[in-house]
Amino acid sequence: MTETFIILVGLCIASFIGSLSYRMQRGISIVRPRSYCPECKKTLGILDLIPVISYLLLKGRCRYCGARIQIKYFIIEVLTPLFYFLLYIKIGISQSFFLYAYLFTVMLYLSLLDIDTGRIGPWDIASVYVGDLALVWLLFSKNSSHPLSYHLFGLLIGVGLVAASFGIILIIKQKVPMGAGDLMIIPAVSFYFGVREVIRVLIFGSATGVLISAVLVLSRIVKREHKFPMIPYLTAGVMIEVLLF
Ligand SMILES: [Zn+2]
Repeated sequence: MTETFIILVGLCIASFIGSLSYRMQRGISIVRPRSYCPECKKTLGILDLIPVISYLLLKGRCRYCGARIQIKYFIIEVLTPLFYFLLYIKIGISQSFFLYAYLFTVMLYLSLLDIDTGRIGPWDIASVYVGDLALVWLLFSKNSSHPLSYHLFGLLIGVGLVAASFGIILIIKQKVPMGAGDLMIIPAVSFYFGVREVIRVLIFGSATGVLISAVLVLSRIVKREHKFPMIPYLTAGVMIEVLLF
């Protein structure tokens, strides 16, 4: 019963994230107009808006004009409930559940923003720091498995590792490898996880990044010079760390 509820909440939140990122990027209100096809502008009916199922039934196309619905929205609709469900199986409903579910959700939203625009502003990143504040509150109410120092060292290590790899890429390729927004998220995520965990998050994130970029370049879907967004890969690192360790 709880599992079904968690999956349904995940599906609703996923659909909200997709719509929010689309509307925020275009300065459209999140309430009006009702959801519509970006191609033919037709208002979508309830049957077009069922997360995951509508995409599968319509084979990823608009019912009215046949325009392709971007697969990233479908991926978000699958990943969000899946993550909530697996997290619930792993740790049950607890403060950590909400902490990780919040972080993952916000990072999925930022991933969409990163993929679409490559520009992440301070206000977008602030949403991740809100999660850090919740963590600090838990630390001070002695409800955390690690002391504050563990998270502070995590911050130093995370920032240090990314700065070092940033430096190496800069020397080899003579160009800045990431955007400022991408970098601002590193301290927030590093503090969230602490020493051991942040190292794994960065390793898994980079490994996912290298693997997917290689597949996309080798299959000629994108060009070699394509600037790959970093936040989706970091989100993959977070997902692997939280669910597997
Ligand atoms: Zn359409």
